[in-house]
Amino acid sequence: MSAPLLEVDGVRRVYSSGGLLSRRRVVAVDGVDLRLDEGQPEIVTVIGESGSGKTTLARMILNMVSPSAGAIRFRGTDLSAVRGTAARLAFMRQVQPIFQNPFEAFNPMKRVDRYLFATARHMAGLAAPADIEAAADRALRDVGLSLAEVRRRYPHELSGGQLQRVAIARALVSRPALLVADEPVSMIDASLRASIVSLLRGLCVRTGVSIIYITHDLATAYSVSDRILIMRLGKVVESGPARTVLDDPQHEYSRLLKSSVLSPEVPSNGAFFHA
Ligand code: ADP
Ligand code: MG
Repeated sequence: MSAPLLEVDGVRRVYSSGGLLSRRRVVAVDGVDLRLDEGQPEIVTVIGESGSGKTTLARMILNMVSPSAGAIRFRGTDLSAVRGTAARLAFMRQVQPIFQNPFEAFNPMKRVDRYLFATARHMAGLAAPADIEAAADRALRDVGLSLAEVRRRYPHELSGGQLQRVAIARALVSRPALLVADEPVSMIDASLRASIVSLLRGLCVRTGVSIIYITHDLATAYSVSDRILIMRLGKVVESGPARTVLDDPQHEYSRLLKSSVLSPEVPSNGAFFHA
């Protein structure tokens, strides 16, 4: 049996909100297990409607939110033991996020190449300008761009799709073992989504990075996933190989998800950024 890369072990997260008199407890994630193995790159898709606990799970795996119960280990180290600047940096080198909205991930006043250079310096530990540029260029080429194309560009000079590719490139600079992508295409023009999702597939195959791909959209999950976890109200209601789960969903909720995506009109929520 291979060594585990990521172990999510009975993880639960409870939020309290409201004032003293109207205190409300929300169990955002309720006993989730997940294991990814070293040397077996795969795309694990976590799918569920809004409020099912996907982002909370992602943030716990990224060590941005701590579990109320259960544990998460990355390469054998409990994330609660990842403290202090050096340990946090070492963890971040190996586990990188990709967020939903690329326009929020970049400061509009800052050129995008600066992000790649800063990441090469701080995460990959490079010092020589030529090495820094080479690392940025290599990561950009991994996502179908190049340093020449984005050099000195500001975020607004790029399309949503290009900017999300730059965000993915930035995440790749330190050569992580795991990417956690939380709805990475939901703010992107519908026509560009498939190309970004297949880029994730290509990265997994070519570079051996494993990806936790979070989405509420079964259509994009189908083509890209090795494994699928279907979440509802904080719990995993069904999981397994993508084909098995998607071709023959067992749980009533999974069937509902599937029938809603297959209906002719899939409503879009919110505005999209255009190419
Ligand atoms: P998803 O990403 O699937 O939409 P979330 O993890 O964002 O789900 O949310 C799961 C549940 O936890 C929701 O009911 C949400 O309102 C609640 N929740 C998430 N973050 C917080 C928070 N910081 N404080 C209070 N409740 C939260
Ligand atoms: Mg979310």
